Amino acid sequence: MKQPGTFIDQARIAARIAELGAEIRRDCGPDTPVHLIAVLKGAFVFLADLVRQINGPVTLDFIAVSSYGGGTSSSGQVRLLKDLDRSLEGRHVIIVEDIVDTGLTLSYLQEILHARSPKSLKTACLLSKPSRRKVQVPVEYIGFTIDDRFVVGYGLDFDEHYRELPYIGVMDGGE
Ligand code: 5GP
Repeated sequence: MKQPGTFIDQARIAARIAELGAEIRRDCGPDTPVHLIAVLKGAFVFLADLVRQINGPVTLDFIAVSSYGGGTSSSGQVRLLKDLDRSLEGRHVIIVEDIVDTGLTLSYLQEILHARSPKSLKTACLLSKPSRRKVQVPVEYIGFTIDDRFVVGYGLDFDEHYRELPYIGVMDGGE
């Protein structure tokens, strides 16, 4: 199988996630528990690195929604595949997502999670493709803003492949 070219390398990802972790902790205060909700499957690598860069108390939960069904274009349909294990009531919640593209997934998630009475609800996305937005969604923490390229690796797949790559890659050439 073709090896994707490097788009964002491991060192840049690590440095940016350290900054995001510090920013999140600074914003919520040193002793406040932060409840991270990772959106499966794509955000699992980002979550693993981010959680280790937020000093102080953190708890985790996972949610799964359908996104691209094996292709590279959005169906526009969002479906809940796996719900959270715990209530959000009174918690400072941060949605941890791999990439915000059209914004449809995040806007759906923000709406259903907001309805569960968290004390606060913010969103952290490793990547953002603003030129593709169909709905405007607030994203408080963005790792990298990128052009309209289909990226893989670091948790992101193409038809379930390439999630294991330690860098963010593109299929059509590198940097
Ligand atoms: P949205 O609902 O914002 O259009 O899409 C969000 C989801 O689409 C992401 O969580 C991700 O699963 C998928 N996605 C969007 N852009 C890309 C991309 O460039 N590469 C990969 N692998 N998935 C993407």
